[in-house]
Amino acid sequence: MKEVPIQSLVAPPVRGLQPYVPGKPIAELEREYGVQDIIKLASNENPLGPGKRARAAMARALTEIGLYPDGSGFELKRQLAAHHRIAPECLTLGNGSNDVLVLLAEAFLTPGTEAIYSQYCFAVYPIVVQASGAAARVAPSLPPDAAMPLGHDLDAIARLISERTRLVFIANPNNPTGTWLAAQELLAFLRTLPAATIAVVDEAYFEYSRDKDCPDGTQWLDELPNLVVTRTFSKAYGLAGLRVGYAISQPAIAETLNRLRQPFNVNSIALAAASAALEDREHLVRSVELNKSALIQLTEGLSSLGLNVLPSAGNFVLVDLGRPAGPIFEGLLRRAVIARPVGNYGLPNHLRITTGTLEQTRRAVEALGEVLRNAK
Ligand code: PMP
Repeated sequence: MKEVPIQSLVAPPVRGLQPYVPGKPIAELEREYGVQDIIKLASNENPLGPGKRARAAMARALTEIGLYPDGSGFELKRQLAAHHRIAPECLTLGNGSNDVLVLLAEAFLTPGTEAIYSQYCFAVYPIVVQASGAAARVAPSLPPDAAMPLGHDLDAIARLISERTRLVFIANPNNPTGTWLAAQELLAFLRTLPAATIAVVDEAYFEYSRDKDCPDGTQWLDELPNLVVTRTFSKAYGLAGLRVGYAISQPAIAETLNRLRQPFNVNSIALAAASAALEDREHLVRSVELNKSALIQLTEGLSSLGLNVLPSAGNFVLVDLGRPAGPIFEGLLRRAVIARPVGNYGLPNHLRITTGTLEQTRRAVEALGEVLRNAK
């Protein structure tokens, strides 16, 4: 039998897909460089991890791990509905909010339709759009000297809207820039969207943004029937490894996404931990307070090294090194600090650095100072 190259069998939209590049895992750095006592500030995780209540709930859930999870996520949805003052029918649970982004693309994008995102946006948007066969329309980001450098330019996005636009992705605050859109400008923009366009407002970093003029998009769901807000337990709730996130939308959208998702897309430990984490206000407040202090420490530390740091409403900053980031990233690895290079985001001179504990943050700034001095 004549062999057929597998690539020729792959669905055309999937052929050119580039994989998502995650932050470098601690174990990998240990293996490759033989360094110890590593700090990972590469994936915007919570340095405190889960709180006590979530840890206890996970241990309890483990005893029933032989059974399938509750495929409807009834209890977590009940709690989230009360938390957001919405009906449970407005919710879609996901294996991380990433899962929900995939579901949205699968549900609304086909070849012939279009999706819009910003030049410096979360790397998953281009992947899910490309995989769907829809056309990506990329809006140029704001210039580096804007009040929100490299942030979303809503006018540029608006100019790309057409009758074929099905999805517009907006992260608020945005990753990798940390920048954010204020309530009035975002709401005014969302109000102009045509009826055939769904706006996905990705609020993965929402909990960290409360001391800025960064809005809570869930407040607009009644007024804007085509709005989908996504949230996650991966960041401020400290449950990144469990993979649980969700979307809030009008029931017709949620019902569609729920038909599409895998029957048990959120595992039972994740369901139990997320329920407990949602009730643990104390841990959330502690996490957000720590981030507030660490963000100031990180921003001031990097600025004192003479670096240009972008404003951030998240748990990370984007810093302009003014030179190729690769060797600096390497130098940090040798000092057991994992930051995130963002060359794949089109930012070869920047690094993204997550806030750690105050001690970790101090060590990261100190290590970067050393690397920069040696690089001179
Ligand atoms: N949206 C944004 C803006 C993110 O930065 C991330 C994680 N890096 C996600 C969504 C996905 O997070 P998760 O799947 O863990 O919820």
